[in-house]
Amino acid sequence: MRPIHAAELLSIGSELTVGETRDTNSSDLARALTEHGVEVLRITALPDHLATVRDAFQAALGRTDLVISTGGLGPTPDDLTRESIAAAIGEAPTVDADLEVWLRGLFERRGLPFPAANLKQAWLTPSSTAIPNANGTAPGWWVDALGGRVIVALPGPPREMRPMWTGWVLPRLKERGLGQQTVSMTLRTIGLGESTIADRLGRLLDRGANPTVATYARADAVDIRISALPTPTVSAADLVATAEAEVLDLIGDHVWGRGNATWAAAIDDLLEARGWRLALVEVGTAGAVVALLGEGLGDRIASAEALPADHRPADGGRLHPRKLAEQARHNSDAEVGLAVRVTTRGDDLAVTIAIADPRGTHTERRVAFLGGQQGRTRAALLAAAALQRRLTA
Ligand code: ATP
Repeated sequence: MRPIHAAELLSIGSELTVGETRDTNSSDLARALTEHGVEVLRITALPDHLATVRDAFQAALGRTDLVISTGGLGPTPDDLTRESIAAAIGEAPTVDADLEVWLRGLFERRGLPFPAANLKQAWLTPSSTAIPNANGTAPGWWVDALGGRVIVALPGPPREMRPMWTGWVLPRLKERGLGQQTVSMTLRTIGLGESTIADRLGRLLDRGANPTVATYARADAVDIRISALPTPTVSAADLVATAEAEVLDLIGDHVWGRGNATWAAAIDDLLEARGWRLALVEVGTAGAVVALLGEGLGDRIASAEALPADHRPADGGRLHPRKLAEQARHNSDAEVGLAVRVTTRGDDLAVTIAIADPRGTHTERRVAFLGGQQGRTRAALLAAAALQRRLTA
């Protein structure tokens, strides 16, 4: 049997190519395939047009081991996936007796007449097998195509597609030998832009190398993903560990988490390790710091207060983040007080961060790029990073 190392995804439906529907199916499938060591060579969105879809299946089969499509399995004339696959593999679809009984049964159960248009949902070809759909009327197709290649056609609605993928398709693909034994891990960093990271990591980022090291700019971090395939002499895990050590050597100071760690979880772990609780005051941030950290910290938060940008102290004095942090810590009997204040500076935000803890009070001033919601979110990230450094120091 042909092992499955590479795949292509076809998302079928004019609602995708006119921008009405967001293609979440391919990202779900691409993630799952990648996790299982299958390289996704391309993802294509296609309109409901028979010749276009047929050509896409044919071309994809010429390049790869596995082609997975979603969409176009409905009963209407513009649902053309079955016709397109049959044309691509040169087979004629016919009504499968068992599928027809099942399909008619679905309508009987609901007391509805059976529409003739639905009969094509009972179609199969000589080399296709039906993939049961427990949540709709469209069974999928598993096609054993020439040369040991596989076509899988799944319906478009994610609530139908997902269980068919995890419950039926994935286990069968695994039986055939799916992907290669990749090992991967992610380091989450802050404080360096993607280009600076690229400069520092240099040749580690070479494309096509094994292990591969790649950067991804996310809202809350720049992630560095390291993944490796085994070689005849070295395990994938050892290759990843070596590359990880090299990356940590170069930019370890900026790593704050691993895998899919969140800021709240990272800070929570640090507070927990010391048995400390946090009192939080933020001014002019519209609650961005609580939004970032609050929920995840649970009972590690002793108090949290978000004050408006124009807040003035009762005594009419100036508002010092240092004083706010110390007061918050004292008033709520917490070990750590964090105060964050943002003020507009041109198009950007000036951010003052103060952290009071048993070792004293630390203050720093930073600039968050851009104002508004984006700037406030960045200010919260700067505060979380400052707190993380302080708690790690
Ligand atoms: P049905 O039997 O429900 O008609 P189908 O296979 O014909 O299934 P489509 O008609 O192509 O599926 O799409 C039905 C719905 O599924 C779309 O309106 C959309 O909400 C959702 N959908 C389709 N393709 C995708 C996709 N790639 N990502 C996310 N949702 C999708």
